[in-house]
Amino acid sequence: MARLDRDAEVLTSRQRLVILGSTGSIGTSTLDVVARHPERFEIVGLTANHRVDTLLAQCQQFKPRLVVLPDAERARHLRDRLLAEGLSTEVRSGSAALCELASAPDVDSVMAAIVGAAGLPACMAAARAGKRLLLANKEALVVGGSVFMDAVAQGGSRLLPIDSEHSAIFQCLPEDPSTWRARVDHILLTASGGPFRQREHASLGSVTPAQAVAHPNWVMGRKISVDSATMMNKALEVIEARWLFDLPPEDIRVVIHPQSIIHSMVVCRDGSVLAQLGTPDMKVPIAYGLAFPERIETGAARIDFTQLKDLSFEAPDERRFPGLTLAWAALRAEPGTTAVLNAANEMAVAAFLDGTLSFTDIHKVNATTMDRLVPALSPGHGLDELLELDLRARASASALIKELAA
Ligand code: NAD
Ligand code: MG
Repeated sequence: MARLDRDAEVLTSRQRLVILGSTGSIGTSTLDVVARHPERFEIVGLTANHRVDTLLAQCQQFKPRLVVLPDAERARHLRDRLLAEGLSTEVRSGSAALCELASAPDVDSVMAAIVGAAGLPACMAAARAGKRLLLANKEALVVGGSVFMDAVAQGGSRLLPIDSEHSAIFQCLPEDPSTWRARVDHILLTASGGPFRQREHASLGSVTPAQAVAHPNWVMGRKISVDSATMMNKALEVIEARWLFDLPPEDIRVVIHPQSIIHSMVVCRDGSVLAQLGTPDMKVPIAYGLAFPERIETGAARIDFTQLKDLSFEAPDERRFPGLTLAWAALRAEPGTTAVLNAANEMAVAAFLDGTLSFTDIHKVNATTMDRLVPALSPGHGLDELLELDLRARASASALIKELAA
């Protein structure tokens, strides 16, 4: 069925939704929007890594058909508790069950809100099965690249960006990029600059995980919060934009905008600039993806323009945020380099959060792993080769983290 027909179908029938990563920041915000519109959405499946208590409460409220956890022991525990509550939700475990749920025939839409490359196989399964795919899980696209986009095209999937910057670009230009490329000079992704935008550069080596996850504007999961503090989040978003909008790397630029009111901009060839604005609340891009092409109530606070004192902008400081430039370097390097960068970053952020790596060494791990591991993917490579590369990059980064800790 053509995409436009399916978009129209979403308006007339109740959308059957799966949320991958339902206990996280994006997952719970999605359920918050869904709960406001029970006539529009039905939750078919939920998945999470842990937080069995939260999953149980979500099952009580939304009565999904199926829940999937990676770990069999945790799945057994949840099954027992659901039975004790008299709920009929089935519980399965393992990555094959996750992919089966993401591509199940009774599912229309999949919210991809797992953090990290761990979400890639289920995203690919949903794309191949032609689902409406609401993509928050940016790492999946950073790792998957052309393989992911080919699966979307071949499956006839409707890919809707949830990341606020990419939703902003999509809201400015919702049609197929091939129809607007000729009119656009470049896109400008906005970045808040995170908690350390003004911190003394020399003191960055000693910042703690608690300081790094305390984002000034957004409440998010721990990994993306650290990525925002290093600006690796923006690097991942540059790579994400390259694939979502089929843009050459030089047409994707970044500007710091500390208030997070303008979520991104499109700069046209005639000098006109299109922007999307809103208070910093992920429920807005989530609801846009859920209801596209309609718009629905989100519960988000509205902008009061009479109270807006400042909308300011500055260039990113490359000394403070050296990771940002890795995005363009990785996009111009051998295919697969973005997957290497992502894997190194996931390992480095985990080590920083564990207290075994300093904040400034995150960049050292990312840049050095990218230098050490030059991918040699075969021309027609698929998901398996990418996952193997991801594992090799993790091993290389892990060895480096040990060297740095010694
Ligand atoms: P989070 O850590 O709050 O939640 C992650 C979810 O994924 C949880 O439900 C967790 O149980 C699940 N999960 C984690 N590892 C898993 C694994 N190995 N297998 C299966 N499930 C696993 O993260 P978040 O902040 O909600 O972010 C989710 C994704 O959305 C990330 O890719 C992030 O970059 C992106 N994103 C988040 C925000 C935000 O405001 N939080 C904004 C834009 C994009
Ligand atoms: Mg973002």
